[in-house]
Amino acid sequence: MAIKENILNIRSSIPDYVTLIAVSKTKPNEAILEAYEAGQKDFGENYVQELVDKYGQLPKDIHWHYIGHLQSNKVKFIAPFVHLIHGIDSLKLLQQVNKQAQKNNRVINCLLQIHIAQEETKFGFDLKECLELLKSGELQQLANVNVIGFMGMASNTSDETQIRKEFHALNEFQKSLVTNKHPLNVLSFGMSSDYKIAIEEGSTMIRVGSIIFGEREYRKQ
Ligand SMILES: *Cc1c(COP(=O)(O)O)cnc(C)c1O
Repeated sequence: MAIKENILNIRSSIPDYVTLIAVSKTKPNEAILEAYEAGQKDFGENYVQELVDKYGQLPKDIHWHYIGHLQSNKVKFIAPFVHLIHGIDSLKLLQQVNKQAQKNNRVINCLLQIHIAQEETKFGFDLKECLELLKSGELQQLANVNVIGFMGMASNTSDETQIRKEFHALNEFQKSLVTNKHPLNVLSFGMSSDYKIAIEEGSTMIRVGSIIFGEREYRKQ
Protein backbone atom coordinates (compact mmCIF):
# COMPACT_ATOMS: atom_id res chain seq x y z
CA MET A 1 0.00 0.00 0.00
CA ALA A 2 1.22 3.45 -0.83
CA ILE A 3 -1.35 5.32 1.18
CA LYS A 4 1.17 7.61 2.81
CA GLU A 5 2.68 8.62 -0.53
CA ASN A 6 -0.77 9.17 -2.01
CA ILE A 7 -1.71 11.50 0.83
CA LEU A 8 1.53 13.46 0.59
CA ASN A 9 1.24 13.73 -3.20
CA ILE A 10 -2.28 15.10 -3.08
CA ARG A 11 -1.44 17.50 -0.24
CA SER A 12 1.53 18.91 -2.10
CA SER A 13 -0.66 19.59 -5.14
CA ILE A 14 -3.46 21.50 -3.39
CA PRO A 15 -3.50 24.95 -1.75
CA ASP A 16 -3.19 25.15 2.05
CA TYR A 17 -6.69 26.52 2.53
CA VAL A 18 -8.22 23.39 1.02
CA THR A 19 -9.10 20.65 3.54
CA LEU A 20 -8.38 17.16 2.29
CA ILE A 21 -10.91 14.64 3.57
CA ALA A 22 -9.72 11.06 3.12
CA VAL A 23 -12.82 9.05 2.27
CA SER A 24 -12.28 5.75 4.05
CA LYS A 25 -15.65 4.04 3.62
CA THR A 26 -15.32 0.24 3.29
CA LYS A 27 -11.60 0.49 4.12
CA PRO A 28 -10.06 -1.24 7.15
CA ASN A 29 -8.64 0.47 10.23
CA GLU A 30 -5.08 -0.37 9.16
CA ALA A 31 -5.50 1.71 6.01
CA ILE A 32 -6.87 4.62 8.03
CA LEU A 33 -3.98 4.40 10.47
CA GLU A 34 -1.49 4.50 7.64
CA ALA A 35 -3.06 7.74 6.43
CA TYR A 36 -3.19 9.03 10.00
CA GLU A 37 0.52 8.44 10.36
CA ALA A 38 1.05 10.63 7.31
CA GLY A 39 -0.61 13.42 9.30
CA GLN A 40 -4.12 12.97 7.91
CA LYS A 41 -6.74 13.94 10.52
CA ASP A 42 -9.92 14.37 8.47
CA PHE A 43 -11.73 11.23 7.34
CA GLY A 44 -15.07 10.79 5.56
CA GLU A 45 -17.53 7.94 5.99
CA ASN A 46 -20.90 7.13 4.40
CA TYR A 47 -22.42 4.47 6.61
CA VAL A 48 -23.50 5.14 10.19
CA GLN A 49 -22.67 1.78 11.73
CA GLU A 50 -19.26 1.64 10.07
CA LEU A 51 -18.49 5.17 11.25
CA VAL A 52 -19.54 4.41 14.84
CA ASP A 53 -17.34 1.29 14.89
CA LYS A 54 -14.33 3.13 13.50
CA TYR A 55 -14.80 6.02 15.90
CA GLY A 56 -14.66 3.54 18.77
CA GLN A 57 -11.51 1.86 17.52
CA LEU A 58 -9.35 4.66 16.15
CA PRO A 59 -7.49 7.66 17.63
CA LYS A 60 -9.74 10.22 19.27
CA ASP A 61 -8.22 13.25 17.57
CA ILE A 62 -9.57 12.17 14.17
CA HIS A 63 -12.16 14.52 12.67
CA TRP A 64 -14.96 12.31 11.36
CA HIS A 65 -16.97 13.72 8.47
CA TYR A 66 -20.29 12.13 7.66
CA ILE A 67 -20.60 12.47 3.89
CA GLY A 68 -23.36 10.00 3.04
CA HIS A 69 -27.10 10.29 2.91
CA LEU A 70 -28.23 10.57 6.53
CA GLN A 71 -31.54 9.22 7.81
CA SER A 72 -33.14 11.17 10.66
CA ASN A 73 -33.46 8.10 12.88
CA LYS A 74 -29.70 7.48 12.72
CA VAL A 75 -28.50 10.96 13.70
CA LYS A 76 -28.38 9.98 17.37
CA PHE A 77 -25.60 7.46 16.77
CA ILE A 78 -23.13 9.96 15.34
CA ALA A 79 -24.23 13.08 17.25
CA PRO A 80 -21.82 12.52 20.18
CA PHE A 81 -18.69 12.85 18.06
CA VAL A 82 -19.23 13.79 14.41
CA HIS A 83 -17.09 16.74 13.27
CA LEU A 84 -19.09 17.85 10.22
CA ILE A 85 -22.23 16.52 8.54
CA HIS A 86 -22.04 17.21 4.80
CA GLY A 87 -25.32 15.93 3.43
CA ILE A 88 -28.11 17.93 5.07
CA ASP A 89 -30.92 17.81 2.52
CA SER A 90 -34.01 18.78 4.49
CA LEU A 91 -35.05 21.09 7.31
CA LYS A 92 -36.46 18.05 9.10
CA LEU A 93 -33.03 16.41 9.15
CA LEU A 94 -31.41 19.60 10.38
CA GLN A 95 -33.97 19.84 13.19
CA GLN A 96 -33.15 16.27 14.19
CA VAL A 97 -29.42 17.05 14.22
CA ASN A 98 -30.20 20.06 16.42
CA LYS A 99 -32.18 17.92 18.84
CA GLN A 100 -29.49 15.26 19.13
CA ALA A 101 -26.73 17.87 19.39
CA GLN A 102 -28.61 19.47 22.25
CA LYS A 103 -28.84 16.12 24.04
CA ASN A 104 -25.09 15.79 23.72
CA ASN A 105 -24.48 19.35 24.79
CA ARG A 106 -22.77 20.15 21.50
CA VAL A 107 -23.05 22.41 18.50
CA ILE A 108 -22.71 20.34 15.34
CA ASN A 109 -21.35 21.87 12.15
CA CYS A 110 -23.36 21.09 9.02
CA LEU A 111 -23.31 21.71 5.29
CA LEU A 112 -26.43 22.00 3.16
CA GLN A 113 -26.27 19.61 0.24
CA ILE A 114 -27.16 21.27 -3.02
CA HIS A 115 -28.33 19.28 -6.00
CA ILE A 116 -26.03 20.41 -8.80
CA ALA A 117 -25.86 17.29 -10.98
CA GLN A 118 -28.05 16.54 -13.94
CA GLU A 119 -29.00 13.14 -12.59
CA GLU A 120 -32.28 12.77 -10.74
CA THR A 121 -30.78 10.38 -8.23
CA LYS A 122 -28.49 12.69 -6.28
CA PHE A 123 -29.90 14.08 -3.06
CA GLY A 124 -30.03 17.72 -2.05
CA PHE A 125 -31.84 21.03 -2.16
CA ASP A 126 -32.18 22.85 -5.42
CA LEU A 127 -30.89 26.43 -5.32
CA LYS A 128 -34.31 27.98 -5.01
CA GLU A 129 -35.34 25.76 -2.10
CA CYS A 130 -32.06 26.43 -0.37
CA LEU A 131 -32.44 30.17 -0.73
CA GLU A 132 -35.93 29.96 0.72
CA LEU A 133 -34.62 28.01 3.69
CA LEU A 134 -31.85 30.53 4.30
CA LYS A 135 -34.29 33.43 4.12
CA SER A 136 -36.91 31.75 6.29
CA GLY A 137 -35.03 32.37 9.52
CA GLU A 138 -35.47 28.69 10.45
CA LEU A 139 -31.73 28.13 10.80
CA GLN A 140 -31.49 30.81 13.44
CA GLN A 141 -33.98 28.85 15.56
CA LEU A 142 -31.58 25.94 15.79
CA ALA A 143 -29.11 26.84 18.52
CA ASN A 144 -27.20 23.55 18.37
CA VAL A 145 -26.41 23.41 14.68
CA ASN A 146 -24.01 25.64 12.86
CA VAL A 147 -24.51 25.71 9.09
CA ILE A 148 -21.13 26.69 7.67
CA GLY A 149 -21.51 26.11 3.94
CA PHE A 150 -22.54 23.81 1.14
CA MET A 151 -21.81 20.41 -0.30
CA GLY A 152 -22.31 19.24 -3.87
CA MET A 153 -21.65 16.33 -6.17
CA ALA A 154 -21.15 16.82 -9.87
CA SER A 155 -22.72 14.59 -12.50
CA ASN A 156 -21.07 11.25 -12.98
CA THR A 157 -19.68 12.09 -16.40
CA SER A 158 -16.32 12.41 -18.12
CA ASP A 159 -17.47 15.72 -19.61
CA GLU A 160 -15.21 18.18 -17.78
CA THR A 161 -17.05 21.19 -19.11
CA GLN A 162 -20.24 19.92 -17.55
CA ILE A 163 -18.55 19.18 -14.20
CA ARG A 164 -16.94 22.62 -14.16
CA LYS A 165 -20.26 24.27 -14.93
CA GLU A 166 -21.95 22.50 -12.00
CA PHE A 167 -19.23 23.42 -9.49
CA HIS A 168 -19.20 26.95 -10.83
CA ALA A 169 -22.94 27.30 -10.27
CA LEU A 170 -22.56 26.31 -6.62
CA ASN A 171 -19.70 28.74 -6.13
CA GLU A 172 -21.72 31.55 -7.72
CA PHE A 173 -24.64 30.73 -5.46
CA GLN A 174 -22.44 30.90 -2.38
CA LYS A 175 -20.92 34.20 -3.51
CA SER A 176 -24.39 35.66 -4.00
CA LEU A 177 -25.01 35.10 -0.29
CA VAL A 178 -22.11 37.11 1.11
CA THR A 179 -24.45 39.58 2.71
CA ASN A 180 -25.97 36.82 4.80
CA LYS A 181 -25.21 37.25 8.48
CA HIS A 182 -23.84 33.73 8.73
CA PRO A 183 -20.53 32.96 7.15
CA LEU A 184 -21.35 30.12 4.78
CA ASN A 185 -17.84 29.91 3.46
CA VAL A 186 -17.16 26.19 3.33
CA LEU A 187 -17.60 24.58 -0.08
CA SER A 188 -17.32 20.80 -0.09
CA PHE A 189 -17.00 19.48 -3.61
CA GLY A 190 -14.53 17.47 -5.64
CA MET A 191 -13.69 13.75 -5.48
CA SER A 192 -10.87 11.60 -6.88
CA SER A 193 -11.82 12.18 -10.50
CA ASP A 194 -12.62 15.88 -10.34
CA TYR A 195 -10.91 17.51 -7.34
CA LYS A 196 -8.55 19.60 -9.49
CA ILE A 197 -11.44 21.15 -11.37
CA ALA A 198 -13.24 21.57 -8.04
CA ILE A 199 -10.39 23.59 -6.54
CA GLU A 200 -10.19 25.76 -9.66
CA GLU A 201 -13.90 26.41 -9.18
CA GLY A 202 -13.60 27.45 -5.54
CA SER A 203 -13.82 24.28 -3.46
CA THR A 204 -12.41 24.56 0.07
CA MET A 205 -12.92 20.92 1.04
CA ILE A 206 -12.30 17.92 -1.19
CA ARG A 207 -13.53 14.40 -0.45
CA VAL A 208 -11.08 11.94 -1.92
CA GLY A 209 -11.22 8.16 -1.57
CA SER A 210 -10.02 5.85 -4.32
CA ILE A 211 -6.86 7.71 -5.29
CA ILE A 212 -5.71 7.47 -1.67
CA PHE A 213 -6.88 4.01 -0.64
CA GLY A 214 -7.35 2.27 -3.98
CA GLU A 215 -10.61 1.22 -5.58
CA ARG A 216 -13.31 0.04 -3.21
CA GLU A 217 -14.17 -3.64 -3.41
CA TYR A 218 -17.83 -3.10 -2.86
CA ARG A 219 -20.09 -0.17 -3.05
CA LYS A 220 -23.31 -0.03 -1.13
CA GLN A 221 -26.30 2.12 -2.18
C1 LIG B 1 -17.37 7.80 -1.92
C2 LIG B 1 -17.55 9.27 -1.91
C3 LIG B 1 -16.48 10.15 -2.19
C4 LIG B 1 -15.12 9.68 -2.64
O1 LIG B 1 -15.16 9.12 -3.92
P1 LIG B 1 -13.81 8.77 -4.72
O2 LIG B 1 -14.27 8.76 -6.13
O3 LIG B 1 -13.40 7.42 -4.24
O4 LIG B 1 -12.82 9.80 -4.43
C5 LIG B 1 -16.71 11.51 -2.09
N1 LIG B 1 -17.92 11.99 -1.72
C6 LIG B 1 -18.96 11.19 -1.44
C7 LIG B 1 -20.25 11.80 -1.04
C8 LIG B 1 -18.81 9.81 -1.53
O5 LIG B 1 -19.86 9.04 -1.27
